[in-house]
Amino acid sequence: MSTSSSAVVNPPRASALATVPLWINGQKTAAASTRFGDVMNPATGQVIRKVPFADAADVDRAVKAATAAFPVWRATTPLRRSRIINKFRELVELHQKELAAIVSEEHGKVFLDAMGSVQRGLEVLEFAVGAPELLKGDHSEDVGREVDAHSRLQPLGVCAGITPFNFPAMVPMWMFPIALVCGNTFVLKPSEKDPSASIRIAELLKEAGLPDGVFNVVHGDKEAVDAILHHPDIKAVSFVGSTPIAKYIYSTAAATGKRVQALGGAKNHAVVLPDADLDFTVDALMGAAYGSAGERCMAISAVVAVGAAGDPLVAKLAEKAKQLKIGPGSAEGMDMGPLVTAAHRDKVKGYIDAGAAAGASLVVDGRGLTIPGSEKGFFLGPTLFDRVTPDMSVYKDEIFGPVLVVLRTETLDQAIELVNRNPYGNGTAIFTNSGGAARRFEDEIEVGMVGINVAIPVPMAFFSFGGWKQSLFGDLHVYGTEGIKFYTRTKAITTRWPARDAVSAGFHMPTTG
Ligand code: NAD
Repeated sequence: MSTSSSAVVNPPRASALATVPLWINGQKTAAASTRFGDVMNPATGQVIRKVPFADAADVDRAVKAATAAFPVWRATTPLRRSRIINKFRELVELHQKELAAIVSEEHGKVFLDAMGSVQRGLEVLEFAVGAPELLKGDHSEDVGREVDAHSRLQPLGVCAGITPFNFPAMVPMWMFPIALVCGNTFVLKPSEKDPSASIRIAELLKEAGLPDGVFNVVHGDKEAVDAILHHPDIKAVSFVGSTPIAKYIYSTAAATGKRVQALGGAKNHAVVLPDADLDFTVDALMGAAYGSAGERCMAISAVVAVGAAGDPLVAKLAEKAKQLKIGPGSAEGMDMGPLVTAAHRDKVKGYIDAGAAAGASLVVDGRGLTIPGSEKGFFLGPTLFDRVTPDMSVYKDEIFGPVLVVLRTETLDQAIELVNRNPYGNGTAIFTNSGGAARRFEDEIEVGMVGINVAIPVPMAFFSFGGWKQSLFGDLHVYGTEGIKFYTRTKAITTRWPARDAVSAGFHMPTTG
């Protein structure tokens, strides 16, 4: 693999704040809490700013601001709400490079990848702008004689979003645009590892004309999250993160009577049949496995090579993996940046040690990589294992790093069975030239998002995003029409305007006709 840290793209400098503020009632606000965490630049290993860990009192201030703002925002017409989101969309487009630079600096992903992630957020904004169409209720006239019925979709109140480190701009944008356009107010608790993008987003929302208090940001760890989960005035919680925390969020928020959707971790398989186009498949798998250093919930981390597909596929994957360019996210032409923290890099390295010790064939070893000029960065090279078996930890666990494992099966039946036995069900893909095999796969696979010759099948904003099994706890996916359902509740109204001739009291069960 080649490495370089030269030729910086020179994106606008990310925020120079020493301490990332909270954002409450339309203002940057200092936390009352005295606990702080470090925000790192993973490419240099340096602490670049501090982030306060909000306590229950900080969270309560944010919820109070959101509660106070709710009546006026709820009464703002859907069209006006959608115009503010549209103005925000324009501002995000205008500041896309700046947001991407903030994401790249604190997360480590390469600048163009960060630009792409902001783009996917923009697409949800485009969807949200059209929400007035989806907020129309149903109407039926004459459900009874001179009786009409209609339904209304009303906002819930204060909603909260708790988001992961790997998409600090995009994942919040999966949530709050839909929540806001439906008439809710919002408290965001982004990842404490890369919190700055959320504050720039808050500033842009204000510039777009969003009234103070409608969108608030608190930072922190479990203490802030628990304060959200137990706050009586929060009506709904959207969570994206790892499976153990997703389970905790789901059970705790549901037990306190909140509506909740909790998206969890993943182990995404790509099934490759012998008739697949080899070069096309390998190119797709490179980006899907190693893009963003494997820190994507839709990353392909397991390849199931069927029959004769195995040997040529592994040879080509190895050849391409060795050619990947690794360096700081701000450097030009990089394919992959560092991992988010030293602890995470060491954890991923531990999995590589374990895979090798368990007898998997280590075809490309990413350990021991140093980047000249970035020796203290949290880098790990792309790693490829072959002949992995389902009992090995490199297969069983979500590694969330640049580690791709190849398993072999004889038939498509066995491949489908293997994928379906896995407890996760976020995304999957099949590579083949057979329409029949692809159709069978699409039908039988127990996974929420499926790609046919598409390695990362993240649904467009007008569909909805969500996995199955241990990858989602809750009933509704995020964004798209399911997002509208999540952030509204339905009221059904039956109307009769009595005619002049009096109707006598009725004591029997009302029926139609
Ligand atoms: P994480 O679960 O550690 O953290 C997610 C959020 O939960 C953060 O805001 C964090 O502060 C908070 N949190 C962490 N520990 C907590 C605790 N003990 N109690 C309460 N809250 C806690 O996840 P992460 O490491 O930030 O992100 C990576 C994970 O997110 C991966 O598992 C990845 O698959 C998953 N992810 C899933 C999706 C999806 O759509 N399914 C998308 C992106 C990321």
